[in-house]
Amino acid sequence: MNRTGRRRWLESIGAFFVAGRLPTTSITSPPSELESAGKPLQLADFQPRSMLHVPETKVPRPRYPVIDIHTHLSVTAKSDNGVGIGEAMKYFAPVEALLPLMDRKNIRVMVNLTGGAGKGLEEAIRKFQQPYPERFVTFTEPWWERTNQPGYSQFQADEIVRAHAAGARGLKILKTLGLYLREGISKGPLVKIDDPRFDAMWETCGSLGMPVAIHVSDPEAFFLPTDRFNERFEELNNHPDWSFYGGDFPSNAELLEARNRVLARHPKTQFLVLHVGNNAENLPYVGECMDRFPNMRVELGARIGELGRQPRMARKFFERYQDRILFGTDAVPHGTDTPQQVFDDELYEIYYRFLETEDEYFDYAPAPVPPQGRWRIYGLGLPDGILKKVYYENAAQLLRVKI
Ligand SMILES: [Zn+2]
Repeated sequence: MNRTGRRRWLESIGAFFVAGRLPTTSITSPPSELESAGKPLQLADFQPRSMLHVPETKVPRPRYPVIDIHTHLSVTAKSDNGVGIGEAMKYFAPVEALLPLMDRKNIRVMVNLTGGAGKGLEEAIRKFQQPYPERFVTFTEPWWERTNQPGYSQFQADEIVRAHAAGARGLKILKTLGLYLREGISKGPLVKIDDPRFDAMWETCGSLGMPVAIHVSDPEAFFLPTDRFNERFEELNNHPDWSFYGGDFPSNAELLEARNRVLARHPKTQFLVLHVGNNAENLPYVGECMDRFPNMRVELGARIGELGRQPRMARKFFERYQDRILFGTDAVPHGTDTPQQVFDDELYEIYYRFLETEDEYFDYAPAPVPPQGRWRIYGLGLPDGILKKVYYENAAQLLRVKI
């Protein structure tokens, strides 16, 4: 529309005299109240406070004792492009610093998934599990740096036997497998999750009764461009290395299907698929996998933000799979970088509130801005029977511990 055309159109809707007083460019400008309020608000500065008048239930202690099956008390000290290298370990907190919070929050057992391998594993066990065998459980990890050496398959299977003898109770797989580990460890093509060189490792875990806690893939949004349509824009903007968009990364679906082939090929091995089967956004898909693979269980760590924004779907999921869902947080002492994982009272209270109450529209992480996406969550109000299973019974059965 040219100038005259627009003038005629404005006249026809009776807006000409209003618009006519303004410079032509102002017709599409923001209303004057906003102009006087100053600059446009930056997304990062937006911290809206809910005006809802709804119940706020404080849950300082859970209704039943808890086994937190997903924590990180130690980590391999050295890494090369996301691949843990060597036996030296780093510790996030001394054992004595953990016990008071565990007692306050009724956490009977914490499972340190990233216990390392070889001498590192032995040290991690000495630090936590040995002095407090009823409170700490340790998992071992594969020797990623040896995966391209001849004889790796047998070596790794033997290492699982050694780790078991040293006191490890399970095996942890980080998303290293599928997203970081390459044929040349940090370079070359990515190693596939269902690569046959790991078959002996999966089988050995099965024969020793060691569950495999496996994290493959990541939220769906991490595989999309970090742009204005990405629902986790701020999170990816804060952690650009979490984006697996482009490059030679497989798709989220390819990673999940490769994992499924591993589950199918090793039916006697118990897999605890972390982060709600690594696809908490798609519970129908996770449910299908649970139906297909009786050796699959899931854990909740760092995904109540996903479950709690679809409380009706999530509640049905809990009802149907109540014997195969385990409590976990992915907590890391001093993990202030990612508030959804920081090991403190507030984090556990949010998990307890989410599982036990029917509270509406509350924060899923102790942070001024929701760190995994700008939404809030709704409690599931689970009945006692399900709560008990999720809090500790399912984990106690899998880990063969008594509570
Ligand atoms: Zn984790």
